[in-house]
Amino acid sequence: MKTTIIPSYLQTSQGQRADKILRNCVHCGFCNATCPTYQVTGDELDGPRGRIYLIKQVLEGNAPSEHTQLHLDRCLTCRNCETTCPSGVHYSRLLDIGRHLVEQSVKRTWSQRVQRSALRSFFLSPLFGPTLQLGRLLRPIMPAAIKKTIPLRNDIATGTSSQAHTRKILLVQGCVQKSLQPAIDVAATRVFGAIGIQTINAATSACCGALSHHLSAEEVALQQIRHNIDSWLPLLEQNDIEAITMTASGCGVMIRDYPHLLADDTEYAVKAKRISEAYRDPIEIVSADGDRAIEQLKKEPKASSNKPSVAFHPPCTLQHGQKISGQVEALLTALGYTLKPFANNHLCCGSAGTYSITQKNLSRKLLHNKISSIEAADSDMIITANIGCQTHLQSATEKPVRHWLELLI
Ligand code: SF4
Ligand code: SF4
Repeated sequence: MKTTIIPSYLQTSQGQRADKILRNCVHCGFCNATCPTYQVTGDELDGPRGRIYLIKQVLEGNAPSEHTQLHLDRCLTCRNCETTCPSGVHYSRLLDIGRHLVEQSVKRTWSQRVQRSALRSFFLSPLFGPTLQLGRLLRPIMPAAIKKTIPLRNDIATGTSSQAHTRKILLVQGCVQKSLQPAIDVAATRVFGAIGIQTINAATSACCGALSHHLSAEEVALQQIRHNIDSWLPLLEQNDIEAITMTASGCGVMIRDYPHLLADDTEYAVKAKRISEAYRDPIEIVSADGDRAIEQLKKEPKASSNKPSVAFHPPCTLQHGQKISGQVEALLTALGYTLKPFANNHLCCGSAGTYSITQKNLSRKLLHNKISSIEAADSDMIITANIGCQTHLQSATEKPVRHWLELLI
């Protein structure tokens, strides 16, 4: 695509990156075919090609409007378009640049500012856990519509957790997951322990930065990321730790993006690359051990019990963001689970961080479509790999929704 980015911006490294991405796009529109928001609204500007065009206009000096901001806000950042694009366009990186520029020019309404600030404050506050706990206590007397938005806590696996092993990984707890479903990290510790890997917990449990990043609080997100790097790097370098992991794929894709987000930070760019390169999703760690891991996991008590049939919902942050496909399914099959395929498993469920709150209508429509597809497969259980998807899906179905790690142990 031919571009005429304003010269002052083209002189910056960010402007040059944006120009390079834009020039890779041939405007073919293949990406629209797999864009969830385009499928729902049918509006070209709610598809990747249209959003790329909107961002191009801003970069070429046209003033963005609330209309521009709305169409960029409606993007789920699911990256399905990146998987589809035959030209390798890094859409999400261009979107980051576009959103940042639009945020600087278009003042949000008072209600949007209050909502965005409240969401960040609440989810990142130490009061989130106690408030959730109170909500769970009051759940029985709540109206059904509110009740289903407050997830119950799943049972936590009992038994020995991580024993001392020569192999070690750093397990980082995120911000909300430890309150929503603490069972997931406990299960991860036991799964890794079962295959001979000791889990070292990061001393600080902090947000990966995604929450602020997706709510356009860019500087807050970058400060959080720098803080994480400062906390994790010494552990990586001093303790023979072979990888960093988190059990939410949404956090994983964020950590993999640290070098891109800090590309212009002379102090942190190299450190960010080191952290990102050390990052592994839990399924990569287990799969890397191949048959040996499967034989060890088959010795766990759950492996010999009756196994439910499962529908695996691969989060966008796993399949499109981290480009990890088929590995969870292969592991579950090898362990004797029956997988029930369902239609459109490449599409987003509508969770996407705080999207289910900031873009309620679109999110609900996507959730309805997703649950209809999954329930048609008639599995006993729904399995996923990201706390956001897990909570979102559970709000719309009676079937149990679990992280794959919880299933194994
Ligand atoms: S992003 Fe890729 S698929 Fe979409 S219009 Fe551009 S080149 Fe085509
Ligand atoms: S990231 Fe997802 S919602 Fe956004 S344009 Fe791409 S496919 Fe559409």
